[in-house]
Order: sequence, then C-alpha cells, then structure tokens
Amino acid sequence: MAAVRSHSFVAWAVVVAFASGCEAASSEQAGYSEVVLACGPVINSPPAALVAGVFSDPVSTNCGAELGGALNVDWETFGGAPAEFYEPSTASELLVAGVIILLAADGGPGDPCAAPAAPENFRASLGGCGELEGENGKSWFDLMQRTISEVRHDLAIPYPMARASDALVVGDIASDDPPEGVIGAPPMAVVEVAALLAHEVSHAVYGRHVACADEQERTECDETAEGAYGVGAWWAARWALVNAAVLDFDDCDAARYSSAQQCSAINESDDFASCEADILRCSGT
Ligand SMILES: [Zn+2]
Repeated sequence: MAAVRSHSFVAWAVVVAFASGCEAASSEQAGYSEVVLACGPVINSPPAALVAGVFSDPVSTNCGAELGGALNVDWETFGGAPAEFYEPSTASELLVAGVIILLAADGGPGDPCAAPAAPENFRASLGGCGELEGENGKSWFDLMQRTISEVRHDLAIPYPMARASDALVVGDIASDDPPEGVIGAPPMAVVEVAALLAHEVSHAVYGRHVACADEQERTECDETAEGAYGVGAWWAARWALVNAAVLDFDDCDAARYSSAQQCSAINESDDFASCEADILRCSGT
C-alpha cells in the first residue's frame, strides 16, 4: 500500500486545542514496558520489521489491546479492536501500526537536536538534546499519555486526523474511496500515519494553525517551522534519514511525501533543514 501515489494536496488536522496539561496516567493504563512486552519484535525495530507496508512478524491482538489501553483508544468507535495482522489496512490496524512506528524502541528519529533538528520549542517535550538515546519510544509514549485523553474514530471529520480539545480524532485513513468532502489521500502508508500522530501530539506544545500565506487548497498553515507542521515534517524526514539503510523505496517515498506535504503548510520554511529540497533521496534497498 506504500506504492507511489500522486496527490494534489493534503490538509491536516486543524481542529486544534491545547491539551489540558499534565495528568497522571490512570492506574489501569499500561506503561511503556508493558506495551513493548505485548508487542514484541515489531515494536523493537519496525523499520526493519515493516517492509512495503507489511510487518514481518504479526502484530498481535494483545499488542493492539495493550496499546489501546495505554492510550485510551475507544475501540468501539473503530468497530472493534484489531485482531492479529501483518498488513494494516483498516483504520484500527493503521492506527496501531502508526503508533508502533512512533513508539518504537529503536529506529526512531533519536536525538531531536541532531541534524535535521526538531523544531526548537518541541525539543524539550521529548526530553531535550542528547536525552533520547534508547529512549525515543518511551519519550513519545509519555508525551502521548500526558497530552491525549482519548483516541476515537469519526468518519465525519474532513481530515485524516484532528485534535479536538485533548482528544485525538482519527478520520478516514483507510478507505480506498473516501466519502465526498474528505480532504486527504487515504489509504495512508503507515509512516504517513505516524507522521500525522507526531503532528497531532505536538499540538500540545503549539497553538492553532494560521491562515496560509499563499492561496492554495489547504486553508490552515503554520507561520514558521515552530508548529505542528514543522514537527510532522521533521519527524518524517528524520525517520527516513535515520533508517535509510533498511527502507525500501516505497516506504522512503511515503516518508518523503509526508514530510513535503507538511512542509508545504509552513508559510516561512526557508531556514528549516527538514524542508530543504532534496534533503531526502530515496533509492531503496
Ligand atoms: Zn494540526
């Protein structure tokens, strides 16, 4: 499903609000180590375990259940929790797969200050410079638990993902034929879902989007790379660069596409390395 596709535009995630602040995880929520244990090999090094959109090891029913519990996913809105799968195709499977990529113990973007660096105001949220060695996944996990109260599915939103207050709303990320009015290009590659998750999580740090400088089909942008689009663009570009040796062309290209789309929603991205042309060349393996 990560085949090269042509897209005219994607508008992301514009229902924005600030998270309600730091909240302790409820006692029944799983911790990061429990999630890693439940998900096994796929969450240890997903860039190598996910090739052309298919996991080499099964994503177990228990993995989905633990992730769902940890992030307070309302599986009923998804039509049920995912059963074991190798190739994510439904919205619930794509969500779990995207979360796995984002929360991976290995193969994440790593140090947010290494080039190309994450947007400055976001770095501290991940623990700051040099603090992420081996802790990449846990940092994202903690940030998600801290800033997202629940995850639910709602096909009525006209975006692949959005943030409503401190809830994460997943739109139609899976359909081959999205209903009229849906902006975006589902079904999405797993890395696109992960980059969107990074974008949405970062709204806990950044404010609302602003109007776009140029007239274009999207209606909401960020003024500079210090915003959710900058975080999403950085995450996808850095992820592909870090994992270049193990990515096949399609997976690399999906990351490049995702990064470029988020870059196109930044009014002034000139000095932001993740949005420089040709920062990412995909040759595949
Ligand atoms: Zn947004």
